[in-house]
Amino acid sequence: MNSKDGYQWTEKGGLTQGVPSIGLIQPPSNITEESTVYDVIIVGAGYTALTAARDATTSGLKVLLLEARDRIGGRSWSSNIGGYPFEMGGTWVNWGQAHVWREISRYNMRKELEISQEHSYGVNHFSLFTAAGKKTDLSHEEEDRIMISALHKFINVDGALGRKIMPFPHDETYKPDVLPIDRLTAADRLSQIEGELSPQEYGCLKGWLLLCSGSTLETMSFYEFLHLWALSGYSYEGCIEYLVKYKFRGGQSSFAIKFWNEALSTNRLSYNFNCPIASIKDSNNSVEVTSIDGRIYKGSRVISTIPLNVLSTIKFDPPIDPSKTRATNTGHLNQCVKVHAEVSNKDLRSWSSIDPSSKLLYAFGDGTTPAGNTHIVAFGANETHLDPEKDINATKKILTDLTDMNIERVVFHNWSSDPYAKGAWFFPGKEFVTSYLEALRARHGNVFFASSDWAVGWRSFIDGAIEEGTRAARDVLLDLRSGPRQY
Ligand code: FAD
Repeated sequence: MNSKDGYQWTEKGGLTQGVPSIGLIQPPSNITEESTVYDVIIVGAGYTALTAARDATTSGLKVLLLEARDRIGGRSWSSNIGGYPFEMGGTWVNWGQAHVWREISRYNMRKELEISQEHSYGVNHFSLFTAAGKKTDLSHEEEDRIMISALHKFINVDGALGRKIMPFPHDETYKPDVLPIDRLTAADRLSQIEGELSPQEYGCLKGWLLLCSGSTLETMSFYEFLHLWALSGYSYEGCIEYLVKYKFRGGQSSFAIKFWNEALSTNRLSYNFNCPIASIKDSNNSVEVTSIDGRIYKGSRVISTIPLNVLSTIKFDPPIDPSKTRATNTGHLNQCVKVHAEVSNKDLRSWSSIDPSSKLLYAFGDGTTPAGNTHIVAFGANETHLDPEKDINATKKILTDLTDMNIERVVFHNWSSDPYAKGAWFFPGKEFVTSYLEALRARHGNVFFASSDWAVGWRSFIDGAIEEGTRAARDVLLDLRSGPRQY
């Protein structure tokens, strides 16, 4: 069945909203008694909420999960079209991401990963656009060489490629001399190394930075990029391994459904989908959560997994503290657009491209569909923002301007116009993390806040969501065991 989320275009069907996904939950609610008081109400059904719901129910708590959408997975979900799982959001995982790997191992899914890139046949080249319209086809080895050279010049603020200044990415401010780094944007850092990059290095670097941040060079935090780099083993090879290589053969929703099924199997999980919440009222010994259609749900504790860019739309009583308010009003910058094209050109399976001035600036062959077609994935950032559904023909033209391709299908989810995400994965401006991370992680009375957007490790990744869901469920469990909260 179709989720209301996502879009698909084919010549025959035109552009349609809503795509099939195994993450769709039917029936959308199992609530039989509206007046039940739950141990904990969890808002959201992304990986943070799914982990928290699984851990809380298996620990014996009575849980209510309220989700605005009709499906699980939040910013990580896959569509199932023609037997193929196009990934609409979060996709790639790695065994070096401890939280995610524990779950892959727990659900016996370690043999269900496959590699995105395939360079054994076809055109086997990398198209680099250095200035508007100037395209050079290079080997993938050249692509790596240029990228490594550029990234090393960019990241090397300490003579050790970041290892000295951020030796523990899971304790990122261990060295206080890292704090001033957060005053820099990527553009500030680029001006420090002006004249050191060749035009090809600049093109590759710009494409990579915009891919990672979904924003602009002038606004993205250099510190946050350093954090990502440190997590990836301080190397470009590590970035590729962690960020764009290993994905589930059956799609992200095949992973998310495992958490869901385990939580449901406890018979302690009640849920209501299509239920956006509007307000959270904490009256010391219980919390009331009100949906936008006025239904009230009661619990002893609440875990909000609402993303950073959406949190300011929720009314809190009592109001959340000024620092958290400033953080939610500021939000993060990532307005990445991710577009899939199914193309009949088999040779493009081994193609990749960077065109920093294109609205789809980073693209590569990501798979082969059951019809034998090549699946191309392409990303855009906020510098030249694209809303594909507003002009699908223009979107197709942007793709064919990168290289000749015969497009049979286009699939995407517009995260920027999505009211329950208001952006893609977390990527902040300068001084955001060092100013607000602790405030975002803090509880507010009986309300606990958990999200990949403020994880300490793989912040902005699925791994970070699982880290946060684990933390929230444990904090609530310990809190409930220690008796009613007094304050
Ligand atoms: P979400 O998944 O956003 O969950 C929050 C939930 O809250 C949502 O289901 C939302 O509908 C719900 N909600 C919001 N408002 C309300 C409301 N008012 N009432 C009720 N419910 C509400 N990560 C990786 O690890 N690897 C990748 O390759 C990767 N690629 C990505 C590509 C894209 C295009 C995007 C968008 C993200 C990507 N990520 C990737 C990041 C990853 O998807 C997220 O970090 C992670 O899924 C966030 O999980 P979460 O549960 O914290 O938040």
